[in-house]
Amino acid sequence: MQITSNCHTHTQFCDGKSSAEEMVLAALRHGLKSLGFTSHAPQMFDPSYCIAPSSEADYITEIQRLRGCYEPRLRIWLGIERDLFSCASPLPYDYYIASVHYLPLPGGFVAVDGNPEILQESFRSYFRSDSLCFANTYYGLIRAYACAYRPPIIGHFDLIKKYNSLLNLFDENDPAYRNIAFGTLRCIRDCDCLLEVNTGGIARGRISDPYPSRFLLEAWHEMGGDVIVSSDCHDAEKITCAFEDAVRELREIGFRRVTQLGTGKTLFERTEL
Ligand SMILES: [Zn+2]
Ligand SMILES: [Zn+2]
Repeated sequence: MQITSNCHTHTQFCDGKSSAEEMVLAALRHGLKSLGFTSHAPQMFDPSYCIAPSSEADYITEIQRLRGCYEPRLRIWLGIERDLFSCASPLPYDYYIASVHYLPLPGGFVAVDGNPEILQESFRSYFRSDSLCFANTYYGLIRAYACAYRPPIIGHFDLIKKYNSLLNLFDENDPAYRNIAFGTLRCIRDCDCLLEVNTGGIARGRISDPYPSRFLLEAWHEMGGDVIVSSDCHDAEKITCAFEDAVRELREIGFRRVTQLGTGKTLFERTEL
């Protein structure tokens, strides 16, 4: 079975390389049936990565224009990737992806997927190189997000592993780390969130497997949770990067279905694997 949708797509309205229309054309070339745009929602402390508040209306207008041009060949959904600390409302959008990129530390917001030197220095100075304190702070923000908003999708669940091979921030095999992550999975399961299987780190050559790691997907499967596959696309050429690998891994774990963006009026549809 082939994934025929990408729910997590960035464009030049935020930090993507490609225009929204280039993404649509790539989606059609790769046989996708639905596509969700999810620019980074405005936030006030790291503006180079998100839509400028003054451009948000233009973003919405452009996606609506593309809808008019390309539907019904490709069902286009207007979404947003909303960081926990974004100031944007999710209300104008069909859906949003709830992501935690930043830790609110005394010196300011620090991105767990941004500048590795700043992350390393924060890990040393603020967390005293305490891996579990670091992990619990990050996962605590995901739990808070899920409980407060009950978002439809949790994005790149274990994003803190992005620089782990470089900075040695924590040990994924440590039972204490796993317990923190498992507890967070239970929390988002209780909030009925979809868990994103995100291949974007592979597309950008940062990591060799999707977010989240396999042991987390195995736990999620045992909890009966649903997954949605995305490429967190920033470059139209990579819109379906590693989808086949993700499907293979999900099948090996035992998943028999995935959720995808709908092709008609319903936002989400389930597809047999
Ligand atoms: Zn993100
Ligand atoms: Zn993203």
